[in-house]
This record gives sequence, C-alpha cells and structure tokens, in this order.
Amino acid sequence: MINLAIYLRISVLEKENLSHTDDTINSQRNIIKSFIFGDPELKKANIEEYIDEGYSGSTTSRPGLDKLLLKVKQGKVNCIIVKDMSRFMRNYIEMGDYLENIFPFMGVRFIAINDGYDSSNEVQNGTELDIQFKNLLNDYYSRDISEKMTTALLVAKKQGKYTSGVPPYGYLKDPEDNYKLIVDGKVADNVRYIFQLIIEGHSLNETAKILNNEGVITARARRKEIKGYDSYATRHESTVEQTIWVAGMVRRIVNNEAYTGTFVFNKSTKSKLDGGKVIHHPEKDWVRVYDNHEPIVDKEIYDEANRILKSRKKNIKFKWGKSKYENSPLASFVRCNKCGYKIRFSKSTNGGKLTSINVYCHHCRMLEQEEKLPHHKDLEREVFEDLKSKFHIDKTEKEKLLAEQKELYDKNDQLLKKKRLEFENYKFGKISREDFMEIKNQIQDSEEENKKRIQAIDEELKQAGSIDSLTKDIVEKYIDRIYISGKGIERIEYQ
Ligand SMILES: [Zn+2]
Repeated sequence: MINLAIYLRISVLEKENLSHTDDTINSQRNIIKSFIFGDPELKKANIEEYIDEGYSGSTTSRPGLDKLLLKVKQGKVNCIIVKDMSRFMRNYIEMGDYLENIFPFMGVRFIAINDGYDSSNEVQNGTELDIQFKNLLNDYYSRDISEKMTTALLVAKKQGKYTSGVPPYGYLKDPEDNYKLIVDGKVADNVRYIFQLIIEGHSLNETAKILNNEGVITARARRKEIKGYDSYATRHESTVEQTIWVAGMVRRIVNNEAYTGTFVFNKSTKSKLDGGKVIHHPEKDWVRVYDNHEPIVDKEIYDEANRILKSRKKNIKFKWGKSKYENSPLASFVRCNKCGYKIRFSKSTNGGKLTSINVYCHHCRMLEQEEKLPHHKDLEREVFEDLKSKFHIDKTEKEKLLAEQKELYDKNDQLLKKKRLEFENYKFGKISREDFMEIKNQIQDSEEENKKRIQAIDEELKQAGSIDSLTKDIVEKYIDRIYISGKGIERIEYQ
C-alpha cells in the first residue's frame, strides 16, 4: 500500500502577492493531484496533505514539514510528492542528504514534479547519481522560487505596477486594482507635514518629537487600522516595533521617492541563497517609472528636504538658510487656540503647479472638532500690522528719540550742577538745612524721572527696527507664539 504525502508550501512573500504567482496552495495541490490521478499506481494510494503557510524554505521551523518527516521516521509515509524541490527544502545539502541517504534508506519514493525527479527512476550507484545530482541542483537553483518571484515582480514593476507588499505611509492599495497605489487621505497630510518640518529646519529627531507630541499616527498604527490587525507584529518582529516616531522612520519617509509619484524599483533584491539576504544595487541600476501614481509632495519640496538632510549629514553646524519653499513665515509659530497643538500650513498642488496653502489643526481634525481657520494671507497681514504698530520705527522717528534722549542727559547734567550749587549755599549758610533737603529731593526726583525715560527710549530703540515686510526672521525676533481660532488671531505671545 502506498501511503502518499503531499507537501505544499507557500512563503510569506508569496502570500502577500498571491495575485502575481500561480503557486498558491490550491494550484500546487491541483498540479500534484492531476499528476497523481494520471498515474495508475499512485491514484490508489492513501493521500495525506502537509501544508506550511507563511514559512520560507530556509527557515528551520516548518511545522508541516516536521510532522511529515516524523511520519517518515515512523514508517507511516512511503511516498512524498512536491511540485518543486525548492518547495520542500531550500538548503541543498540537507536536501541531498534526504535524497541520497535518508529516503532510500527509509524506502521512501520522492517525486518533484517540476524538477522531473522521481527517485524510483534513479539508479543507485556512485558516479551516475553524482552527475544526476549536479544537474538536479543546477535545475533546482534555476527554478528557485525567489527567482521566479523576482522575475514576476520585475515584469509587473516595469509596467508601473506597485507590487511590494506594503504601500508607503500615505498610500493605499487601490481596492479596484491591487497593483495600483492611491493616496491615503487620512494620513497624506502627515507626509506633507513631515517634509515641511524638515524644510523648516527641524532635525530628524525634532521632527519625530513633534509628531509624537501631536499624536500623529505612525505607519505601523495606520496599517493596523487599515488591516484590523498588527501586521508588523509577526512579520518584522523586532525591527519595526515602534508605535512612536523615531528619526529613522522620518528619514525613510523623506528619502522615499514614491511620494513624488515616481516608482523606483530594482533598488535591492533578495539573495536567492541562504535566508534571502537583501542585496542593495547601485543607483545606476535603479529603474524609475515617473508619474506612476498620484504624488503627495512636489518634486521641488522632495528635493529641498533631501538636500537639507544631505547637507546636515555633511556638516552638523550647517546654518539653515531661509527656504524659498517655506509655506508661510508664520508656519512655525502658530498654535491652535482650542487644543494648543501646532497649526499646519500645508501646501497643496492643484494640477501640478498651482498651489494653495491650507491652514488647519490636525489634532482638532482628528477629533472631528475642526474649525475653519483664517486664510494664511489674512493671518500674515494681521501679524504684519501688529508688529509694525508695535515695533516699526522709521528714520526720523528714531532721530527724534535720540534727540530727546540727548536732551534728557543734558537736563540731568544741569540738575547735578544745581544740586552742587545748592549744597554750597547750604554749607555757607545761605539756605536752611530744610530748604536744602527739599530742593535736593526735588532735583533727585526729576533726575530719576529723566533716567527712566532715557532707559525707555533705549528699550524702544533696541526693539524697534524697520519692519517693511513679514519674514521668518522678523517674526522670530518679536514673536514666541500666535494662537488662532476660527475667529482669527486670539492672542500673540511676544518674545
Ligand atoms: Zn486644535
């Protein structure tokens, strides 16, 4: 009696990309079953199935295979059929051991359909097997599953199809077409915000901190929301454990060209040998498909943010110039009056070039308590007027103040002289002590008053400047925070 075991395996990678591979569990089963039922002897056998889903060929932990090999040891299985040898084992030394030693010893017939291998056809003697084996192994590699996957993916990618398992933060797989990326409206603004923060001169760490402070949802948490479970928990174990933003996550976003609508592929491949180590390719080998999907940030913003990151890496002390891409000179200073979080000024493109700037509180939006905030131009105008009325001083005004100050210094000189004179009068008995004390006090009061005014003018001159336009420098010089609501500016905190 033939006790036949069918072994079926599908890896994590394949599981994610089921639509691009014909090697689903079902299709493996169908191929094997039709092979069995085409064989008069095999079709009479007892058939049992052993399945490993989500395990790679190179991992040692494969419960289905373990169970099968136990049955072999117990003598309960005497024939094994797989579609490809690589489904069974990836490590050819181990595979060879089974084929050359273990299976013949246990009297197990082994069939790998696509490899054209059937152990019952083998002549069990020295050199012949050796040659047979070499051919087999060459064949084995050329059929290697990861190569097949890579080829299939490359073809799909050349057609501009998104085939990597997980879309970047800010994108979703189109439910209509799994190959297509669509913008994830719920978090796309966060991506723009990250680029904005970098362009405003925040470091990766600062940016991560701001995102955490504002409760911005992370990529992992967003995936969990979409999928309803934490897909990273099993797949990436320790590497993407963070549910908070860290510098590396921010960098990965800023470095990802996908946000400009460009699809880059062939950046890396998984090694076909041992454990699928990732091989990174030089940039010259990358292939780009432009306008592959809807961009989230402008190319110019992407370039600017990456230029900043690069120059920062080169020179930590690099002093930030004012960026021409900054959305508003007020952008870093405005807070929501309701919740206190930083107000976002995010640029949106309209048909490529036309841009408008949206002013909104992300936090209130998430709580569905969003107010329609004033237009950024109105805010800028109001702040400009306020600064001008408080701090602007023109040249004649400045001269007038300086002249007034000089006059006060002169007055105090006169008062000092008068004080000395009165003191002499008192000493020589010309006036009484009481009279002298009274005069002296009067003089000193006047002196004090003049000194105060002199100091006030100093303050005014120090603070004032010519405020001709609203720049980030000007705002930074005078303002700490601006609180706004739907009604407009609620209050300004000055430096
Ligand atoms: Zn708010």
